[in-house]
Amino acid sequence: MHLPDHKTKIVCTIGPASSSEDVLRGLILEGMNVARLNFSHGDLDAHRVIIRRIRKIANELNRVVAIMADLPGPKIRVGVIEDEPMMLTTGLHVVLTPKDVVGKDLIIPVQYKQIAESVTLGSPIYLNDGFIQLDCKDIIDGDIHCDVVVGGPLFSKKGLNLPGSKILINPITGRDLEIIDFGLQEGISIFCLSFIESKDDILLVRNYAASKGKEVFIVSKIEREEAVKNIDSIMKESDAIMIARGDLGVEIPIQKVPIVQKDIIHKANLMSTPVITATQMLESMTEHIRPTRAEATDVANAIIDGTDAVMLSAETAVGKFPVETVRMMAMIAHSTEKWRYHTTIGLEMMKKAIQRMHPTVEDMISIQVNDALRNLPVKYVITPTVSGKTPRHISRFRPGVWILAFSRYPLTCEQLAMQYAVYPVLARQKVEDWEESVMDALTKSDMIGAGDMLILTQGQSTGYGKPGGTNLLKFIEVK
Ligand code: PGA
Ligand code: MN
Repeated sequence: MHLPDHKTKIVCTIGPASSSEDVLRGLILEGMNVARLNFSHGDLDAHRVIIRRIRKIANELNRVVAIMADLPGPKIRVGVIEDEPMMLTTGLHVVLTPKDVVGKDLIIPVQYKQIAESVTLGSPIYLNDGFIQLDCKDIIDGDIHCDVVVGGPLFSKKGLNLPGSKILINPITGRDLEIIDFGLQEGISIFCLSFIESKDDILLVRNYAASKGKEVFIVSKIEREEAVKNIDSIMKESDAIMIARGDLGVEIPIQKVPIVQKDIIHKANLMSTPVITATQMLESMTEHIRPTRAEATDVANAIIDGTDAVMLSAETAVGKFPVETVRMMAMIAHSTEKWRYHTTIGLEMMKKAIQRMHPTVEDMISIQVNDALRNLPVKYVITPTVSGKTPRHISRFRPGVWILAFSRYPLTCEQLAMQYAVYPVLARQKVEDWEESVMDALTKSDMIGAGDMLILTQGQSTGYGKPGGTNLLKFIEVK
């Protein structure tokens, strides 16, 4: 077992800068827990090669590395620009067209046939992550005539956002379903859904996978205003949440992003739903070996907010220093977690909030474990788990010690890779002989010695492969 210094999980987007064996090994050794494959780019064959490579290296290094497939969803992009970049100077008049043309002479093709039905006169249109702003002045024959309000250079295939407008494409596209098929064939169970609006989008994917006899772990990306509004029902149906600040920061006013982040993280913690904070966390490290003060502080603040995982995008996909960026993230996480553990305000608030929401036996067990951790010199919490629920419940209080989650289910182990302070261990022994075999494994790997104290949770159903039902808490002093 290898327990790193930091308990916050690190998600790395794999791209040209990080798909070689050497860099992947470096990322894993520095602390990558989840490899995110962005299916907006690259063909399926190329992804297959990378998936197999990640698994091979993780296996060699004996680490759990989850693979997460991020589906493109209905992201709207501009088409091909002939002479890149097209300079859109403030004050110019440009035309967006759904027609299949090459972009030139201030005519910009858009890969969204119904754009004229979505925009209205005066609505703002953003290009390139919000760096370019247009205003719709007229709609003629399905073409959108715009003024450039904030100018900039435009390259091919850049994103287009229409905040506040109804997008007439289903959030789950045919292409997404093809990628899910591919992912399931490759043994992937974790899928990120982009631009979802409501719980129906999640149910659609869950049912689709079920029709193929598969269970999926769904990470809902919150990047539209509609999703922020529907956050409670979305969270209920999701296995995890990603605060996708890249598109979110264009789709809603950017000044609201910090509060939406805090709000979503707090809700996710209460529900024991793992939450990933994403995009631009150490952005300047795509070019430089050191982050800015603001970025280091952003990572720390997300952890103080209570995020389970922090995500790197361009930094590891196309940046100059992918391995160094992961190392930096791990160092910031480590120093922040130590401080946070000693502030008990969040803990007390969480306990009260949970007690107000009709707590279950498992909620109470998780509160008891965390109270014990603050009063006794416990070395590890050990949780046998089928679905991952018990370790998640305990993890939401952000304990100062590792939760060793033993499961016989490889997918449960993988899905726990994004959970704060949880170290998943694939158990081969029968769970009926749980205690003895776990103690044996820990002693053999020199993780415990005489006098150490451990907490073990257990449930009547644990031995029978049914999820839920944790109702026992046991303190063990190692002889
Ligand atoms: P993306 O999602 O990188 O796929 O756009 C993350 C975000 O929008 O922040
Ligand atoms: Mn996005």
